Amino acid sequence: MADASDDLSDLPAVFRDDVESVLIDAGQIERRLGELAAEIDRDYAGRELLLIGVLKGAVFAMADLARRITVPTAMDFMAVSSYGSSTSSSGVVRILKDLDTEIEGRHVLIVEDIVDSGLTLDYLLKNLRSRHPASIEIAALLTKPSRREVDLDARYVGFEVPDVFVVGYGLDYAERYRGLPSIVTLKPEVYGG
Ligand code: 5GP
Repeated sequence: MADASDDLSDLPAVFRDDVESVLIDAGQIERRLGELAAEIDRDYAGRELLLIGVLKGAVFAMADLARRITVPTAMDFMAVSSYGSSTSSSGVVRILKDLDTEIEGRHVLIVEDIVDSGLTLDYLLKNLRSRHPASIEIAALLTKPSRREVDLDARYVGFEVPDVFVVGYGLDYAERYRGLPSIVTLKPEVYGG
């Protein structure tokens, strides 16, 4: 396969015209997920892993990680309430879709798109720990350390981003832009309404 490109000229103009800048291009994401998968393979050698993707933002990271991990892996998904169409956290977390499977005694790796305040994952960790998994860790594609409100230890992190609102590679603004192959910022007028 040819190298991934951050050239947005191939994208539908409706998206391309809204993009302000590319923070992380598709090739960088692909390489970093390869590194994380290799780390996960080493850490979980000889064990079976349950990946839990947090819908919807983590779908691309989940799919791309799962394709690279070589230890035996099952997948499940949860959906929690998010920011809706707003760009700031309400701090309220609600489970919209729970797991299909039991996690007691299993090695769980939560896959999340971005850790911002950390409130969502803090809640999820507490909730899932109460179900007695053998182990539980976090893999997050992105983190915004400057925004953290709770002490949260994500074992696998793709990239640190500054305190800016980003979209692409699963991350949305008002349900749009998830399909962009890169992590980008949007022009201010996009939020203007
Ligand atoms: P937290 O609970 O850590 O504050 O927020 C986590 C969730 O907020 C993420 O899973 C994501 O849905 C959303 N979020 C936080 N920052 C961003 C961002 O920069 N862009 C987008 N699209 N969503 C974000």
